[in-house]
Amino acid sequence: MSDYFISDNLREECGIFGILGHEDASKLTALGLHALQHRGQESAGIVSFDGKQFHSEKHMGLVGDHYTNAQTLANLPGSSAIGHVRYSTTGDTVLSNVQPLFAELEVGGIAIAHNGNITNGQTLRSELIKNGAICQTTSDTEVILHLLAQSRVGNAPKRLIEALKQLEGAYSLVAMTRSKLIAARDPFGIRPLIYGELDGKPIFASESCALDIIGANFIRDVKNGEVIICEKQSDGTINIKSIEPFAKKPQRLCLFEYVYFARPDSIVEGRSVYSVRKNMGKNLFLEAPVDAEVVVPVPDGGTPAAIGYAQASNIPFEYGIIRNHYVGRTFIEPTQQIRALGVKLKHSANKEQINGKKIVLIDDSIVRGTTSLKIVRMMRDAGAKEVHMRVACPMIKYSDYYGIDTPNPDKLLANQYKTLEEMRAYIDVDSLAFLSVDGLYNAICNEPRNNQSPQFTDHYFTGDYPTPLTDLSGKNGVSMNKIALLKEAV
Ligand code: AMP
Repeated sequence: MSDYFISDNLREECGIFGILGHEDASKLTALGLHALQHRGQESAGIVSFDGKQFHSEKHMGLVGDHYTNAQTLANLPGSSAIGHVRYSTTGDTVLSNVQPLFAELEVGGIAIAHNGNITNGQTLRSELIKNGAICQTTSDTEVILHLLAQSRVGNAPKRLIEALKQLEGAYSLVAMTRSKLIAARDPFGIRPLIYGELDGKPIFASESCALDIIGANFIRDVKNGEVIICEKQSDGTINIKSIEPFAKKPQRLCLFEYVYFARPDSIVEGRSVYSVRKNMGKNLFLEAPVDAEVVVPVPDGGTPAAIGYAQASNIPFEYGIIRNHYVGRTFIEPTQQIRALGVKLKHSANKEQINGKKIVLIDDSIVRGTTSLKIVRMMRDAGAKEVHMRVACPMIKYSDYYGIDTPNPDKLLANQYKTLEEMRAYIDVDSLAFLSVDGLYNAICNEPRNNQSPQFTDHYFTGDYPTPLTDLSGKNGVSMNKIALLKEAV
């Protein structure tokens, strides 16, 4: 296996959208992607089909930078379309990686847009290359296309399913052929995917906020391990079929969708993300109260939890930090140096609310600690008498390999500083506390973690990865679960 392919796992954050049989397919897709922009700001792509031909527009940058242009949308005619927004962490910021990917295969043209990371993607890729496949991108989605191309089991959905059976890891995807729109979610349902409709036409999207923007109706979440095949009939009606072709697994949605990733107005697996985040803040207060004069959120991520903390504690909530919305996320800047600068560009102190006060700062998570370090210094410079930090999720000790942008484990603050006291001293707060794993579960589903069969995947806190991490641990090597435990023991 070449170093090029195993040097680092390609980590991507993405949002997807697909619609079949609607005269405004590409416009609706552009709007849906705009609502999903928080899931990826680096590139946006749409592929449409007009009954004869596939059309594609792919651009680096934001949805609004390109798809508000009438010409771009005119280049995407047809009544079916799929789209994708993406952010990748591993340097492959090239147009060839921008999704949806399209290929002409034996079964006809097919376009795929995929959210989630395949944890055996590099291993499969190097086998494909060894057998003569010519890869033009470094994305996992191309691996799916190659596996589909090699399959001989029947029509496109059957071949897609055969390809998906070879994957480990997370995927929620939409695929489009000349007559079909197919949606699929991995057996654990790690990344979200919802099913809706507009004017009787089926829609799939990463989150419900993509339906709200176009006035579409939510039908239900796509189930873990489910494949939904929508087919346009010659009379224009749409036939919809749901199958569950994979070995049955328990659902384990990624907890980080609730903690950070999903938009607060989305409903994920029947739960309002906003309400869940407020519950996290409430539980954080119950677990780690502090005698402060004002609750200050680190905006925007920490805001709902701070409201929950303030309501439970009766301490006033104030915007002690103002966020400048005209800069991208600090986290996604390419180097640590720029990232550190980014925090200053993004946040500034609202001095009048801070000066002379005992404050409790609430953030949704601490990953590297860059944000906390800068914000705390900013609060002290603004005259805060005491700065207490409360974090609305547990300590992040393990990296994510399923589609959330986290750095390598050695860069995580909770790995660099082993004890809470060391972390407190590093970010220079008067006190520091994290929500417990059970406190987080309770905020989401009103019950603690079921240790025999966890209701979610919480690997960043526990090291319990639901799938093998073959690319990291070698095909027959130890599972990451064991690696996590070994690390704990050292
Ligand atoms: P850090 O500065 O590395 O500790 O990152 C923590 C901050 O980044 C918090 O304010 C979070 O709201 C935010 N954050 C957490 N996870 C992510 C992510 N995957 N992408 C972008 N920002 C994130």
